[in-house]
Amino acid sequence: ATMPPLLSAIANAGRHGVLVKSAVVMERLGQVDAVALDKTGTLTEGTPRVTDIRPLDGSGLTEDALLALAAAAEHPSEHPLARAVVDAARARGLAIADMRDFTSAPGVGVTATVDGHPVAVGAPARLLADNDPVSAGAAVVATGLEDGGRTAVLVLRDAVPVGVLGVADRLRPDAAAAVAALTARTGSTPMLVTGDNPRAAARLAAEVGIPGDDVHAGLLPQDKVEAVRRMEARGHRVLVIGDGVNDAPALAAAHTGIAMGRAGSDLALETADAVVVRDELATIPTVVSLSRAARRLVV
Ligand code: ADP
Ligand code: MG
Repeated sequence: ATMPPLLSAIANAGRHGVLVKSAVVMERLGQVDAVALDKTGTLTEGTPRVTDIRPLDGSGLTEDALLALAAAAEHPSEHPLARAVVDAARARGLAIADMRDFTSAPGVGVTATVDGHPVAVGAPARLLADNDPVSAGAAVVATGLEDGGRTAVLVLRDAVPVGVLGVADRLRPDAAAAVAALTARTGSTPMLVTGDNPRAAARLAAEVGIPGDDVHAGLLPQDKVEAVRRMEARGHRVLVIGDGVNDAPALAAAHTGIAMGRAGSDLALETADAVVVRDELATIPTVVSLSRAARRLVV
C-alpha cells in the first residue's frame, strides 16, 4: 500500500531532523501564519558562557568567591544560564558548596541556602526592587553589561546584591536564514518573545532581521502565553518555537508548538507538538512546506 500523505510527510520531516508527534500535528503545521520565537536556546545556541565576573564594592567577595556562590545556588537548575555558571566555576577549579532549599522561578532565577545564607541568582529586573545605593550600583553594572549584548545575572546574599555576572551566547549560524524563510512561508515576520532584558533582545533581533516592534522582552512564562493569545485573538494561527521550562505554557497554548531538542528542557519536549532533533532552526520552515504539500494531496 502507498503511505497516506501525512504519514509520508512525518517520515520526511524525520529525515530532516524534526520529530512530528502525530498526523494531526503534521496537518496543523501547514496552517500557521504567524511565529513567536524564544531567544535563549532557540535563536541562540543555548550554550552560553560566563564572560564577566563583577563582585560589587563592599561585598568582600573575590571573583572566584562570587562565581562559586552563584554556582552553588544554580547547581540543580537545568537553565542554560545555570549551566554556564556551573561550568565556569568548574573551569576555574572552584569547589561548589552544597546547598539546600533550592527553588526556581521560570523567567526569574533561583534561590537556595548556601553555607547558611539565603542566596538568589537571576534577572536583575526581577530581583532588584529597592532603590538603596547597593542596588543602584548593581543596576549600573548590570545595565552596562546588557548594553554590550550580555545577559546580566545578579547574585544576592542575605537579600543584598553582592555581584553581577555577564553571560553571552552565540547566535545560531542559521538563525537569520530561518527567520527569513519563516517570514516567506507564513507571510509575517516572526515576533521575538523572551524573558531576557530588552537591550540584549533588541540587539539580537536586529542581527536576525526582526524589527523592533516585534520584540517583546522581559516576559514571564504567562506573558508569553498572553502574547500568543493576542495574536490568535486577531485571527492568527501561531507557531511557537522554544526550548525552556519558561516556554512550556506558550508551547501548549499555541496553535502549534515546536521545541528545540538538543538543549531543550524535558518539559518543553513533552509539551511541544514537534521536536527539532537535529539542531537546526532552518529545518522548521521546510517542515511547514512538507505539511502544505501533504495537505494538498489529502484534500
Ligand atoms: P528566554 O525567554 O530568553 O529563553 P528565560 O525566560 O529562560 O529566557 O529567562 C529569562 C531571564 O530570567 C534570563 O535572562 C535570566 O535573567 C533569568 N533567569 C531565569 N532562570 C535563571 C537561572 N537559572 N539563573 C539565572 N538567571 C535566570
Ligand atoms: Mg529559551
